[in-house]
Amino acid sequence: MEEAIKKSEVLIEALPYIKKFFRKNIVIKFGGSTLSDENTRRIVLTDIVFMNFAGMRPILVHGGGPFITARLKEAGIQSKFVNGLRVTDKRTMEIVDDSLTEINKELVEDIRIIGADAFGLSGKENRLLIAKKVICNEDIGFTGNVDSVDTTVLDRLLEANIIPVISPVAMGHDGELYNVNADEAASNIAIAVKAEKMMILTNIAGIMSDAKDEKKLFHSLSVDDVRYLIDKGIIYGGMIPKTKACITALEGKVRKAHIVNSGLPHALLLEIFTDRGIGTEIMKLGRRTKATEGI
Ligand code: ADP
Ligand code: MG
Repeated sequence: MEEAIKKSEVLIEALPYIKKFFRKNIVIKFGGSTLSDENTRRIVLTDIVFMNFAGMRPILVHGGGPFITARLKEAGIQSKFVNGLRVTDKRTMEIVDDSLTEINKELVEDIRIIGADAFGLSGKENRLLIAKKVICNEDIGFTGNVDSVDTTVLDRLLEANIIPVISPVAMGHDGELYNVNADEAASNIAIAVKAEKMMILTNIAGIMSDAKDEKKLFHSLSVDDVRYLIDKGIIYGGMIPKTKACITALEGKVRKAHIVNSGLPHALLLEIFTDRGIGTEIMKLGRRTKATEGI
């Protein structure tokens, strides 16, 4: 009996959150690290199906990191990253596109098995993602930045209560395919669909002052804190596009941006349905906070 009452309490506690997010778009990005663990992946997708049935509109953007790297290795291509972005020649781009398409199909299938309707999209189609070539010191090939997002198809799917699952391959103005970082794709999509929240799931607790020490997690950082940590080299590699994506999203009026560990069971549900903050939240604040004092 007591247990039954406890359960009802949990359900009732969720009511304000269910109301708050009813029919709101929530962009969820998960990377290769999340995809490679079968158990993690099933829990994440179950949470997404739960959100869908609770009246939210989750939009999934996936990466493919380790899977793509393995595919490239099989093809005898060495992966190279500059500031967390993959250097992409034409052959690499083809393999990236094929790998992401494969992952996309599996995700859609898994969501359907769990019980919600999903539909796979590639950013290269229907002008969903248009990219321009990344300009930096080194030529990193067919690696693009998102230039524009066309939400026509997305809007229709969301209206029909279907979960869009998006592969971050973009079409360039030159008609070539471009590899865009999935974190960056997620933030641009979040802005375009006026998302309430963007959640980036990854293989680490959040942003830390020492990436090797889980106890050094920042719970909350301002945009200026993040810029400072990048300058200091404390945020590096794959965490750079993630934090930049959060800043882009916030500046584009997405209300909240979080980086969360997908290895923590039901991280998505905890983040949405409880007050208990998990991972790192980035706040739209143009000054440093206490969090980075003395660093
Ligand atoms: P994903 O596949 O989810 O995109 P990435 O490997 O691209 O994951 O990015 C996450 C990685 O960023 C972490 O595993 C960690 O090694 C690295 N990283 C760099 N700086 C930090 C930091 N300050 N705090 C946490 N992780 C960091
Ligand atoms: Mg990454």
